[in-house]
Amino acid sequence: MSDTPLSLLNRVFGYPAFRGEQAAIIDTLVAGDDALVLMPTGGGKSLCFQIPALLRDGCAVVVSPLIALMQDQVAALKELGVAAAFLNSSLDGATAMQVERDFASGRLKLLYVAPERLLTPRFQALLDDARVSLFAIDEAHCVSQWGHDFRPEYLGLSTLHERFPAVPRIALTATADAATRAEILQRLDLGGARVFVSSFDRPNIRYRISEKSDPRRQLLDFLAEHKGEAGIVYCSTRKKVEDTADGLKAAGYIALPYHGGMDNATRARHQEKFLREDGIVMVATLAFGMGIDKPDVRFVAHLDLPRSVEGYYQETGRAGRDGESAEAWMAWGLQDVVTQRRFIDEGEAEDAHKRSGHAKLDALVGLCEAASCRRVALLSYFGEASPPCGNCDVCLNPPTLWDGTEAAQKLLSAVYRTGQRFGAGHVIDVLLGKTTDKVDKFGHSQLSVFGIGASQSDKTWRAVLRQLVVRGLLEVDHTAYGALKLTQAAKPVLKGEEQVWLRAIAAAPPRRKSRLAASSGAGVHDDEDPLFLALRAWRRETANEKGVPAYVILHDATLREIAARRPATLTELGEISGLGTKKLEAYGEAVLGVVAS
Ligand code: ADP
Ligand code: ZN
Repeated sequence: MSDTPLSLLNRVFGYPAFRGEQAAIIDTLVAGDDALVLMPTGGGKSLCFQIPALLRDGCAVVVSPLIALMQDQVAALKELGVAAAFLNSSLDGATAMQVERDFASGRLKLLYVAPERLLTPRFQALLDDARVSLFAIDEAHCVSQWGHDFRPEYLGLSTLHERFPAVPRIALTATADAATRAEILQRLDLGGARVFVSSFDRPNIRYRISEKSDPRRQLLDFLAEHKGEAGIVYCSTRKKVEDTADGLKAAGYIALPYHGGMDNATRARHQEKFLREDGIVMVATLAFGMGIDKPDVRFVAHLDLPRSVEGYYQETGRAGRDGESAEAWMAWGLQDVVTQRRFIDEGEAEDAHKRSGHAKLDALVGLCEAASCRRVALLSYFGEASPPCGNCDVCLNPPTLWDGTEAAQKLLSAVYRTGQRFGAGHVIDVLLGKTTDKVDKFGHSQLSVFGIGASQSDKTWRAVLRQLVVRGLLEVDHTAYGALKLTQAAKPVLKGEEQVWLRAIAAAPPRRKSRLAASSGAGVHDDEDPLFLALRAWRRETANEKGVPAYVILHDATLREIAARRPATLTELGEISGLGTKKLEAYGEAVLGVVAS
C-alpha cells in the first residue's frame, strides 16, 4: 500500500493526528503548489515540508539560516530513519563532498543548506543535476529588510522560482504581522502561493506580569516553581546577565550567562549545553534565542521590559514548543519605561522612527498595566479576537481596581507645588511628610501638600506614580535628572473632571498548583514522579552516548505519558504519541526495562 501523509505521520513520527492546518499545507505541496505558512513557534512547521519531502520524488532542499538548528533537525530526522543531511560551513571538505555526492545521486530525502551556500555557483550546478522535490524556506521573515533578522542572502532566493518553476516552494515563519507577510510574498516571488495563517495563540503558555519590587527575590520565587526545568532569563544588559547568572549559581541553579560581549567559543559552549542537557537556566541578553528550537524550555522570564509586544511574544514563544505547559513571567517597573524612553529619544533615528518606537513601548506598557486577560490583549495586538483565557495572571487572580482620583490629585499637586523640578523620591517624601535634607533645603515642609499622603505607604505612592506616568498624566524629563512634569492630560484630573481608576498592588502571585492540562492532553505534571525522573536519566545517558540533544531521543511529553501509562509490552508502548517505528525499534526494550525496574 502506498504511503499517505497520515500513514507517514503515524509510522515515521509516531504522532496520531495532524495539528491545525498541517494536513492542508502538506496536500498543497504534494500537489505541486506553493505555500506561505504563518504559524506560531511550536506550531509544527517542520512537518509541513518534511512529510511532502518523504512523499514526493527527489530530495527536498531546506534553506535555514542557523547552523545549530540545521544540525538538530537533521539529527532528529536521522533518529526517525529519514535520509537527511546538511551543508554548511561547519563541515570539513571531505564530509561536504560526500553530502554533495549523496545529494546528486538521489540518496537523500532532505538536504538543509545555509542560504549563502545555496547561492554559490557550485551549489547551483548541483541543483541542475539533482532531482529536487521541493524548496522549503524556513524563517522566511529573514527576507524582510525592516525586520531584526534581515539576511541579505535571502533576497537571492527569488531566483529559485525563475530557475525551477516546476518545483513547489514553501516559505515558513512565526512572524505574524501583515507587513512582513506582504514583503515575503513579494520578495520571494510567491504571488501564486496559498497562504495559511494559523492562530497565534499559545494556549499552553501561562502569562504572568508583575511589578518589580525586589527583582532578585521575585526571580528566585518564580524559579522555585520551576526546579530542575530548563528556561531562559532575559536581562537588558551584559552586566546584569553576569550578575544574575552568578546569583542563580549561588542559589544552587545550573545557570549559564550568554551575551554579545563573551567570546564566541564560550557562547557556543553555553548554547550547546543548554540545548543538550536537562534543567539548565540560560541567563541572556536578547542576543540569545533566535532559532533555538529546544522543545522543552519550560519558562521564559524577563527581568527587564522587552522593546515591543512583538519582541515579548517572540521571546516568550520560546517556551513550551512541545505543547506542554510553560510559563512566561516578567517583572517590570517605572524605571524600565523611563530608561527605554530615553533610549529612544537619544537614539540617532529619524522622528518617524522615534514616534513608532514610543508607540510600540506604549502598547507594551498597556499590556503590562492591563486589568483584563493578557492573552486577549496580546492576540488583539496581532489582530486576533479571543475570549478570556483562564491561564494568565489576570484571569487567575483578577486585580482589584480602586478609585484613585483623590490620590492622583494629591500626587499631581505635589509635583506642581514643588515646581516640576524633582524626581519620584522627593515628591513621595513630600507627600509622606518626611523631613529630609532636601525637604529642609527647599522649605517644602511649608507647602500645603506636605504630608497629605501620609495615610498611604511609600509602595502605594510608587504604584500610583507609575500608573500616572504610563498613562501619560506625568512625564519624566530625562534632560533634567528625571524631574516629573505634568502633561495636558493631567488637567481634567486636577480639576476633578475625570476619574482615575488604579490597579491595587498585586497580592501574592498564583501558585502553580493547578497547571493547566496542556493541549497535548498530558494533564497536570508531577515532575517528582520517580519513573519520569528515571526515564529522564536513561534518556540523558542515551543522548550523551549518541552525542545528540536529549529531546532528539524522546520528548518530555512522551516520557510523561510513558510514566503515566507504564506500558508492559512493545505494542502498548507503540500506542504512545512520539514513538514511531524506528524509535520503538531502537529504544523500546530499553524503555520497557526502565519501566519494569
Ligand atoms: P515550529 O517549527 O513551528 O516552531 P516544530 O516543527 O519544531 O515547530 O514542532 C514543534 C513540536 O511539535 C515538535 O516537537 C514536533 O515534533 C511537535 N509536533 C508537530 N506536529 C505534531 C503533531 N501533528 N502531533 C504531535 N506533535 C507534533
Ligand atoms: Zn487570561
